[in-house]
Amino acid sequence: MTIMDGKMLRDKIIDDVKDKIEKNNLKLNLAIILVGDNEASKIYVRNKEKACEYVGIKCDKYLLDKRTSEDEVISLIDRLNDDEEVTGIILQSPVPNHIDFDKCAGTIKYYKDVDGFTKDNIYNLYMNKDGLVPCTVKGIIRLLDEYKIELEGKHVVIVGRGNIVGKPLSHAMMNRNATVTVCHSKTKNLDGICRTADILVSAVGRANLINKEMVKDGAIVIDVGISRVDNKVVGDASFDEIKDKCSYITPVPGGVGPMTVAMIMENILLAKEMKDNG
Ligand code: NAP
Repeated sequence: MTIMDGKMLRDKIIDDVKDKIEKNNLKLNLAIILVGDNEASKIYVRNKEKACEYVGIKCDKYLLDKRTSEDEVISLIDRLNDDEEVTGIILQSPVPNHIDFDKCAGTIKYYKDVDGFTKDNIYNLYMNKDGLVPCTVKGIIRLLDEYKIELEGKHVVIVGRGNIVGKPLSHAMMNRNATVTVCHSKTKNLDGICRTADILVSAVGRANLINKEMVKDGAIVIDVGISRVDNKVVGDASFDEIKDKCSYITPVPGGVGPMTVAMIMENILLAKEMKDNG
C-alpha cells in the first residue's frame, strides 16, 4: 500500500510556479474576498496568502463585515474585474446566509475565476475544453497522475455530488475516459457500489463513512472529506481499517488538501495566460 503524499507534490508544484514567475518576471495579483469572520475560512485564506508570498504573487485581502450586502460584494467584484492589475479573484466560501454565493461568484470574469466556479469554466469542463478547473478536482487528478495511476477504463465511484468536488470531479474523470458512478445521501446499496470501485473518491465530510466492507482489494482510495473528531482533522475513510486493503490511499491531513492550494497557484498562472491570449 502506498500513501499518496499531497504535501510533497504541493511543494514540488509550488516551486515550479515560483520558478516560472521568477524566470518570466511575471507580475501576478490575487484578490481574496472574505465576508464575515468564519474561523475555518480565515485559516484557508491564510494558507492561500502564505503560498502566494512564497511563489511571489501579490495577495490582496478584502475583509468585509458580515453585514455587507450582496450588492456591495458584487460591486467590489466588478471593480476587481475591471482592474488590469488583478490576475485572479477568489470569493471565500461560505458567505453569510443573506448573500447568494453562486450569484456573487458568478459575476467574476471567467479568466479571473481561479476557483473555476463560473458558468463559463463549468461549461468548459463539461465540454472537455480548456479552462480554469476547480482546484480540488484538478488537485485530485494531478495526484493520480503523479502516481501514474491510469484512469482510462477504470470504474471511479465518487461519494458526494457537491458543486465544489463531486459534480465537477465526475466530469473531469469522464474527460479522462473513466467510467463514473456518483453516489449521494439517497443512494441505495452504497456499500455494494463502493465495492465495485477501482478508484473510490469520498467527498462528503462524515468521519468513518468509508469502512473496510466498502473497499475492494487493491482499490485506490481518495479521501477528500474533512471533519473534526476530538479536535483532530479526519477524512471520510476509516484510514487504519482500510489502508491494508488499498493499493493507494490519500491521508487526511496531507493528501488532497495541500493539492488544492497548489492548484490555486497554477490556476493564477493559467489565468494570466488566458487573459494575455484574449
Ligand atoms: P457538499 O456540497 O455538502 O456535498 C456533500 C455531499 O455528500 C452531498 O452530495 C451529500 O448528498 C453527500 N452525503 C452526505 N451524507 C452522505 C451519506 N451518508 N452517504 C453518501 N453521501 C452523503 O460538500 P462539498 O463542498 O462537496 O465538500 C465535501 C467534503 O469535502 C467536505 O468535508 C469538505 O470539507 C471537503 N473538501 C475538502 C477540500 C480539500 O481541499 N481537501 C476541498 C473542498 C471540500 P446529497 O447531495 O444527497 O445531500
